Amino acid sequence: MRRYFTKSNSSVCDRLNVLEADGCPATDGKLGTAQAWESDNRATSSKILCMIRNARETEVLKSQAAGGSVPSGQLVRLAREFTFEAAHRLPNVPEGHKCARLHGHSFRVELICEGKVDPHTGWLLDFADLKRAFEPVFEQLDHHYLNEIDGLENPTAENIAKWIWTRVRPVLPQLSQVNVAETCASRCEYRG
Ligand SMILES: [Zn+2]
Repeated sequence: MRRYFTKSNSSVCDRLNVLEADGCPATDGKLGTAQAWESDNRATSSKILCMIRNARETEVLKSQAAGGSVPSGQLVRLAREFTFEAAHRLPNVPEGHKCARLHGHSFRVELICEGKVDPHTGWLLDFADLKRAFEPVFEQLDHHYLNEIDGLENPTAENIAKWIWTRVRPVLPQLSQVNVAETCASRCEYRG
């Protein structure tokens, strides 16, 4: 009596073959009677659950393999952004240029570090280290008139970026780039 052995059941059996190959417990494969089919059907349900579980475990393992630790020695870049408010004017622009007039910006500074990931910590450095390195510089810049700061008599974005680089790099050797943006659309990228 193979009337229960329908095409869809064949499909299930095909999947079972895969399951057995993957190490799931096998059914006896007997499909001759209704009773046998019911028995097999229960076994099939159990095997499908096993297949789903195996598939999930496989996906987890694949995911872990794909998203695991950064290989030791691989270069990465970290960036942290800061904002400070300040006024300035540019003394050397052509006559009539709007930047010659006193005005202010919400300057955005981005510190970018580059280096190898520590195999133990799994990071290049603590983001808090970037914050600590920038704090003294931030205090000198935030809510100040930049033209009055030593070294910033001509406080263009380029000169501000170099000024920041000069002060942060000695305490943050991984520093590879300083970005200074005066507006959302305009920034300078300085690499020392
Ligand atoms: Zn400006």
